[in-house]
Amino acid sequence: MVFTSYCLRSEKKVRRYLRGFIDSLRLTVKGGTGGNGLPKYGGVGGQGGNVFCIAKENITLNKVKEKWTTKRVYAGHGGNSHAKAILGESGKDENIEVPLGIRVYRDDGKLLADLNEEGAKALVARGGYGGSHRSGWLGIKGQSNIIRLDLRLIADIGLVGFPNAGKSTLLKAVSRAKPKIASYPFTTIKPNIGIMEYPNLRSISMADLPGLIEGAHANIGMGHKFLKHVERTKMLLLIVDINGFQLSPKHKYRSCLENIILLNKELELYKKELLEKPATLIINKMDTPNATKNYDEIKDKISHLSEILKDYPEEMCPETPLIFDDILPISAKSGDEKQIQYVKERLKDILDLNDEISKKKDMEENAKLIQTLKEEIAEKAQGSQQFHR
Ligand code: GDP
Ligand code: MG
Repeated sequence: MVFTSYCLRSEKKVRRYLRGFIDSLRLTVKGGTGGNGLPKYGGVGGQGGNVFCIAKENITLNKVKEKWTTKRVYAGHGGNSHAKAILGESGKDENIEVPLGIRVYRDDGKLLADLNEEGAKALVARGGYGGSHRSGWLGIKGQSNIIRLDLRLIADIGLVGFPNAGKSTLLKAVSRAKPKIASYPFTTIKPNIGIMEYPNLRSISMADLPGLIEGAHANIGMGHKFLKHVERTKMLLLIVDINGFQLSPKHKYRSCLENIILLNKELELYKKELLEKPATLIINKMDTPNATKNYDEIKDKISHLSEILKDYPEEMCPETPLIFDDILPISAKSGDEKQIQYVKERLKDILDLNDEISKKKDMEENAKLIQTLKEEIAEKAQGSQQFHR
């Protein structure tokens, strides 16, 4: 029984990984060909359609991928000029809606656009001109580009916790630097970024994103602003106080376990894709009285969230309970160097392993794409047989 439940758990974990949160996506984009001109009347063909990227709130790269499953976006061709319409009709434009904070690169590495504001728009493939006397009346082909959409990360790791959990304390402890205030164009609350340094010049950034409170998904407090930033990190680091938390005397006291469930729920209500990111949990303030006893009571429950949710009111419970890559009971304030080193190492390992997993997934996807393209070639090749009679 224990073994089956272990297998089920790990299968669920694998499935979560395979669903995977993506922060980069390649697309082939083509502008439409211009329509042909009409020499007899001096008619000009319609301009081929353009392909644009437009930044939109509430879009994720996963959604972009789902919409453009073939990863190819072709704008419409311009209409030919004919006796009834001397000016050919313009081809249809295609708009690719992308998340805020996207950088668009061409395959050769050239930066085409940096889209940070709602509605910001960039041309990624221009349609060809319509045919006229200058082009011998033939429509010109549209631009063809392979583009890469890169989600600009605020930091590798995003710290997620209710006020007073010890986010700032942890950030200072692991990065030993005074938290740097980063300025990003799309930032309205300023995340504190700490850099964790490792031997071999490796460094990992961690963002302390203040402002999450219960109800944040409904934009209570600085909810949306906070959660928007969480999207731009590779991995979530949830942090809770072992003693639980109460925002004010007016608010309900929430135990440590309830805090974990509520954080899970807030993330899900805002955007369920956030739960596809790898997540690790820190149980903080283990130096306080009774902390060890309290932790012993809940530690099994934390790694079996899905099984304990039935004991909680429905409105509190997330549909997708998080499965943590690790659970680290610590005291951020203790100044215990060994403990801090351990946390840093674990975070690096977890980040690296998840990177490996998403790379592997990319490779599998490329293999799939190559397969479909090959099938398409083969299908068209059959048409060539018509000449062999
Ligand atoms: P934040 O609101 O999540 O950034 O929390 P802070 O880092 O500002 O910490 C809130 C309070 O908890 C401060 O008074 C800290 O000194 C205290 N604190 C943080 N970590 C620990 C810890 O490991 N043990 C104890 N006892 N107190 C802590
Ligand atoms: Mg703080």
